[in-house]
Amino acid sequence: MDLFTVDVTNIPGIGPARAKRLARLQITSVGDVLFYFPARYERVHRESDPLQDGVQAVVEAVVSGSASVKLQGKRSTMSVPMKIGNSNVKALFFNQLYLRHQLIVGRKLRLYGKFHESTQSFMVNRYEVIKPGNRIPEFIPIYKLTKDLTHSAFRGMIQDAMRVYADHVEDSLPMNIRERFKLRSLREAMICAHEPKSEEDIRQAHRRLVFGEFLHFQLQVLGFRRMRSQTQQVTLDEQDLKEKAYSFIEQLPFALTKGQQHAIQTMIPEIASSSPMHRLLQGDVGSGKTAVAFAAIAAVAGLGWQSAYMVPTTILAMQQFEVATSWLVPLGLRVALLIGGQDVSLRQSILADLEAGKLDLVIGTHVLAQEQVHFKNLRLIVTDEQHRFGVTTRKLLRAQGIYPDVLQMTATPIPRTLALTLFGDIAVTSIRELPPGRQPVETKLYSRAQDAAVITLVRTELAKGRQAFMVTPRIDPTEESDMTSAKELYDILGEELAGYTVGLIHGGMPERERTLVMQKFVHGDIAALVATTMIEVGVSVPNATMMVIYDADRFGLATLHQLRGRVGRGAYPGHCILLANKGSDAAQERLQAMLHTQDGFILAQQDLTLRGPGELLGDRQSGMPVFRLGDIVRDMKIMEVARQVASELVHDEEFWLLPNYRSLRKYAYVGNTKDLYVDS
Ligand code: ADP
Ligand code: MG
Repeated sequence: MDLFTVDVTNIPGIGPARAKRLARLQITSVGDVLFYFPARYERVHRESDPLQDGVQAVVEAVVSGSASVKLQGKRSTMSVPMKIGNSNVKALFFNQLYLRHQLIVGRKLRLYGKFHESTQSFMVNRYEVIKPGNRIPEFIPIYKLTKDLTHSAFRGMIQDAMRVYADHVEDSLPMNIRERFKLRSLREAMICAHEPKSEEDIRQAHRRLVFGEFLHFQLQVLGFRRMRSQTQQVTLDEQDLKEKAYSFIEQLPFALTKGQQHAIQTMIPEIASSSPMHRLLQGDVGSGKTAVAFAAIAAVAGLGWQSAYMVPTTILAMQQFEVATSWLVPLGLRVALLIGGQDVSLRQSILADLEAGKLDLVIGTHVLAQEQVHFKNLRLIVTDEQHRFGVTTRKLLRAQGIYPDVLQMTATPIPRTLALTLFGDIAVTSIRELPPGRQPVETKLYSRAQDAAVITLVRTELAKGRQAFMVTPRIDPTEESDMTSAKELYDILGEELAGYTVGLIHGGMPERERTLVMQKFVHGDIAALVATTMIEVGVSVPNATMMVIYDADRFGLATLHQLRGRVGRGAYPGHCILLANKGSDAAQERLQAMLHTQDGFILAQQDLTLRGPGELLGDRQSGMPVFRLGDIVRDMKIMEVARQVASELVHDEEFWLLPNYRSLRKYAYVGNTKDLYVDS
């Protein structure tokens, strides 16, 4: 059973309301639940250990008296006498009056928070009721959750999911591979990850799970390559393609940079050739990748072939559709936009036109990869700002059952050494220069104590009619850290930027709402937009000149650079303000690097060398492949082994034939899954 196709609502106790909350964590299937692994583990406080002052801890406590409550305006503090080990302490709950009826004398709780010796109190961030008879584990998994999902509720869901589905988990690794590397079964590893009994459990779970996901990734990469080497396309006339590309270039309102020209010249022969192109185009934010892609699209369209242009968000799709309307439509190209939430009849007619060959180009989001989308003669797929070998690209290729030319574009260059580990000898073109006349974005570092001064700067820009992005690392406030949250900042700015419209956008909002907010910002109806890093990708708002990044020390260099690339895209000079307190040394060096260069290639290289241990490389937007558990730098050794194994496998006849490789084979296979190979 493929648990990633079984809806979460099949788990007992998960109804539509909970499903909606889970969806915010990108969890929609049973597989997603089981594979939502803890971000870290905390060791449970032992009764024999003394409580330590001011240290985050997990403790077992018994309610020993009744609650007393203090109210201050909307805020409340509830103090509950408890016994933790042999100590009598006051457990303090903030703004959680509704818990009162649950805190019955004698009840056993697990509390997460900090002990304060001077007041003999325990500030509770989170708590769970311990059911009678429950074994007290040594390690508690800590998941990254949204505010409306409690840890105990989530752990309950995981347990329910495991109870019902753990036996149906299909282990893609056959016995011989597991034995060769002494890996636990997937089922065991999953149980160990969610309910570890020892440190060794955590280690082994990590090894097994990371190896698994890296092997799948490498099989995809090598599977793509194998597919490409086996596919024959119709050869196109190179001269014809060139001419069509030139007529596109000639009507552009600007002259192409050398880098853009070079990129187009490299692609044309590859598109013409009978073996499919698979090229990665790296170019800094604003280097003009769109024009390069459109030149290729215009070329194949000129010869009667179709293209698909995939972007990660609706807003980006709409923006690129506008560009296509002014650059491609005048050349006679027929272009359509396919996004979620469109009118059914419009959608139907686009789909029909696409299949009938009445469209040359369709620009869209992941909806392009849906099975109902059929092309008449798809020749070129362009993916813009999608992480490489994205799920969507694979789905689209599978749905079409063909292997056309693929151009993947990214603003986050990967250093050569890392590219080799990840992709082997992938074909890469880089655009190193920006179009002439670009003004550098003035970058400045401020300490958190200076935020009032920063607000004044923002007001000055807004007064000139410009717009500002205000980025924070978190959506919700938390007691555990003093990081600025988007929701808090949004409230604060409501007052401090009185007279201007302040907007809020974050990953916890449904896409439809996000699109609306973003549209308002694009149209200038919002002056200052409070956001999490989700605005990092591609969006162009020429009137936005101010990028303020709160807790800038919390972000990786790639992210900071992408964020900075959002401003200074129009006629006005851009400003980037990094607000940060003294963080780790690595964080300081990252910020210094931001102040000293605007070159994305240099920054990408530094990003790798500066990362502190445990910092994850990139995130969903950074252009790196996204792994659930693995980290390409920390787990580099595992990646190398996975690459080796994948390479052995795809060159082994048995891999493509024997039933024990059936589920592993799916990853290596690009193309129609109904094909004999997979289901044999
Ligand atoms: P990115 O590589 O970040 O996707 P875009 O393709 O969005 O960059 O281009 C950024 C801006 O630069 C766009 O407004 C585009 O029209 C403009 N542009 C692209 N190429 C050139 C050029 N050669 N000269 C001047 N402006 C250009
Ligand atoms: Mg772009």
